[in-house]
Amino acid sequence: MSKVSPAEEELLCKSVRFLKGVGPKRASLLSKLGVETVEDLLYFFPRRYEDRRQITPIKSLEPDSYAALLVRVVGVEKKITKKRNLNLTVATVTDGTDIAQALWFNKRGLENLLSIGTLVALFGKIKENYGMLQILNPEFEIIEEDALPEEMGKIVPIYPLTEGLSQRWLRLLIRRTLSEYLSYVEEFLPEDIVLRYGFPPLKKAILGYHYPDDERGWKSCRKRLAFDELFLLQLGVAIKRRQMEEETSAPKLSCGGPLQMKFVENCLNFKLTSAQEMVLGDICVDIFRKIPMNRLLQGDVGSGKTVIAVLAMLAAVDTGYQAAMMVPTEVLANQHYAKITNWLSKLNAEVTLLTSSLTPQERAKRYEDIKSGRSRIVIGTHSLIQEGVEFRELGLVVIDEQHRFGVLQRRTLMDKGSYPHTLVMTATPIPRTLALTVYGDLSLSIIDELPPGRTPVRTQWIGKGKLKELYEFVKKKLLAGNQVYWVCPLIDESESIDATSVQKRYRSLCEIFSDFKVGLLHGRLGAPDKDETYRAFLRGDLDILVATSVIEVGIDVARANIMVIEDAYRFGLSQLHQLRGRVGRGGGQGYCFLLGEAPTPEARKRFKVMCSTSDGFVIAEEDLKLRGPGAFCGVRQHGITDFRVADLVNDVDLLDIAREEAQVLVENDPSLDKYPKLRARLISTLGETLSLAITG
Ligand code: ADP
Ligand code: MG
Repeated sequence: MSKVSPAEEELLCKSVRFLKGVGPKRASLLSKLGVETVEDLLYFFPRRYEDRRQITPIKSLEPDSYAALLVRVVGVEKKITKKRNLNLTVATVTDGTDIAQALWFNKRGLENLLSIGTLVALFGKIKENYGMLQILNPEFEIIEEDALPEEMGKIVPIYPLTEGLSQRWLRLLIRRTLSEYLSYVEEFLPEDIVLRYGFPPLKKAILGYHYPDDERGWKSCRKRLAFDELFLLQLGVAIKRRQMEEETSAPKLSCGGPLQMKFVENCLNFKLTSAQEMVLGDICVDIFRKIPMNRLLQGDVGSGKTVIAVLAMLAAVDTGYQAAMMVPTEVLANQHYAKITNWLSKLNAEVTLLTSSLTPQERAKRYEDIKSGRSRIVIGTHSLIQEGVEFRELGLVVIDEQHRFGVLQRRTLMDKGSYPHTLVMTATPIPRTLALTVYGDLSLSIIDELPPGRTPVRTQWIGKGKLKELYEFVKKKLLAGNQVYWVCPLIDESESIDATSVQKRYRSLCEIFSDFKVGLLHGRLGAPDKDETYRAFLRGDLDILVATSVIEVGIDVARANIMVIEDAYRFGLSQLHQLRGRVGRGGGQGYCFLLGEAPTPEARKRFKVMCSTSDGFVIAEEDLKLRGPGAFCGVRQHGITDFRVADLVNDVDLLDIAREEAQVLVENDPSLDKYPKLRARLISTLGETLSLAITG
């Protein structure tokens, strides 16, 4: 390998401003596209390509095929179509072999671009109309005479643009930059990895992703570049994790102690599912090590994560440590507290509840209990991480419904004890690819099985025209002793948003169901009111609960079997799934009605998915496809999924390979001493994001 002098390496970090033909104004436009340096430009990839390898002569055009033409404009006309009153531009074109027409609908101003004599490349579908060959709404590019040799006969990159930059200019800039600077790009992947997967060398991959020879070549370049991104991230995560493991230590907690055993034998009226047992096994192995556990437990709504949390906490208590469980809302804290104290009533383990609605005296008392070690298990909201809470010996922290908490909050709690083991539980399945990238520093356990005897919730999408029938159905079910959730998107009526508010629906349901008790729950109620309403619903004193999506997480009412989601289009797929998860928990048949129109194709797709599956993982994958990774909680802030090439929906296999290679490498060479180029590259791309400090 030839040693590159620093001066040459610096060339790639040079600002694009200094490139020929750029200057400050265009540099600031490029900056809008995320391009600051020469290297950014080399890595600024096309969003699509145009295949200009085959230029078809007009005389050989086949109707109903797609074709690329290179033609000269010989006439332009503007017309209005008779039938639909559309604005039509018709250009008559020729390439010397024959004449054809290019037709565009509603493209104002086009006639000014296509003056007679213009050389233009057209791409589109060919039609025949009364013997005249036509190309409909073609993509077009005006060709300057001197550009011919470069632009034609190739697969041509089409780059994302911003206002003020033209495709031609940007393409030319990138092409020139490639020929001047690509040679300074250095291979950073270990050679054996390149060989093992038959990757093209880096320079070739970059060039071939801008200007592919053919589809196969493009694929192989793409794969290499996507691998680079995934591999660097996995490498960073693995190194980070190793550092954490070296710098921190946690207490060794053992499973199988007396409290845990008694709990399993005497307190539960069911057997753990095999998925639950597997997960428990994972946890027991983890918490018995001195390395702090950092595990993400994913389990669909109702899969029984709470029991697992309790078992893990009991292992801590059995070993002489305290355990804490943090949940996102007051209502949930109360619910968990009630359930867990009930479960543990036969055991001698003090459970303490910590919420923000305590009086100062109560709070002081509980703080004292926690500090002295009298309370063994603490359940609370974010007040758990407030100043003043001091544990005597915190061994384990469980965080339920983690997506409600920021990463920062997690940190704070972890810093309270020496280093407790952490179990993060989530009911919003995060697609596996995301879990492994964004949450790459977490180990992952999945409960992929529901407790036996659950019948899937029946989901139906109905228009508001069917409201009367829905009322009848609801009435029948209420008389049979069921309870109903009725979710609306808004709290108050709004003039600008066309959706039903809880207030309005509450009033109308009170009238229609005057023989029943209707309650109202939304985020603006004070905590005591919310709590009281929720308790009344739990006791069965309320038959219908009209609510905003505040009820989405974790609430568990066995007799509530019907969920109506009004203006359901206003909720995302994962959220709909979460809401639906509130019903069908008590063993009876659950029903979910998605009420209202689907104003967009995307909303329609969401409803379809909801009606066809209740598998949270399938839903999460669909959600990822529909909305992209940024839509997942907490992911956007990270910014580390902003890959230029890799794609979290389709590169799952590649991600697995990248992850494995990264782990092996870090295992053998934790500070990457043998791979200085790789180390440099890692630090330059991810050092800041992951706050990595690696020194060779
Ligand atoms: P989630 O995973 O949504 O937090 P929960 O822990 O609230 O689920 O469990 C849902 C319900 O299933 C609870 O009422 C719980 O007691 C019950 N449950 C948990 N595990 C089992 C099991 N193995 N068999 C039967 N019921 C179970
Ligand atoms: Mg739960």
